[in-house]
Amino acid sequence: MARIYYLGHASFEVKLEGLDGKEKVVLIDPWISNPLSPTSLEDYLRSRENIDYIIVTHDHGDHLGETIDIAKRTGAKVVTIYDLGLVIEEKGVKNVIGANIGGRIKVEDLYIVLTPAYHSSTHGNPVGVVLRGKDVSIYHAGDTGLFAEMTFIGELYKPDIAMLPIGGHFTMGILEAAKAVELIKSKIVIPMHYNTFPPIKADPQEFKNIVEEKTDTKVVILKPGQEYIYP
Ligand code: ZN
Repeated sequence: MARIYYLGHASFEVKLEGLDGKEKVVLIDPWISNPLSPTSLEDYLRSRENIDYIIVTHDHGDHLGETIDIAKRTGAKVVTIYDLGLVIEEKGVKNVIGANIGGRIKVEDLYIVLTPAYHSSTHGNPVGVVLRGKDVSIYHAGDTGLFAEMTFIGELYKPDIAMLPIGGHFTMGILEAAKAVELIKSKIVIPMHYNTFPPIKADPQEFKNIVEEKTDTKVVILKPGQEYIYP
């Protein structure tokens, strides 16, 4: 089972059962002060007992977000691309796990794999991430254009749930993200990275109609503040 809580933009809180049978709390790209956010950083942290991991896909401000502050205050381990990990460590964060694209990261209770992403960044390559606990596999694509190796991500890691950007301009738009679904073949897709700013305006219902007409994947549209429980 997994609980996916959408914080707006590309920010998610994922709760899933780890390999040790205990629930893990993972924040992905925690920009909790984003314009669509349902909560403030203070209210969010007050309402959470612990955060085990923060995964950062790249160093753009709308993805790095409040990672450094949250990591310092909660002791969460930060998993990211090696070069960005060094920068985060320099800012005083302990427990940084710097990794690179393509190899499974050994943490005690979860499998984490950084995947390619077609995008830009200042420190290290931008990435997506596959997260696997005891029984659920989740792929968060980060900021990316469409690329053919998404097929391998689908075949190797068999994601139950994929979070894909649909806003265009900086990432895939609806047309490209719908093609990505054909490659990844996850059971569920959650659209992200749209409607935060005018250049990334997109209609998630249009994306849902296209995907569900062409594939067996179900599109779950989450409003910021909504939670989806899988299965
Ligand atoms: Zn970016």
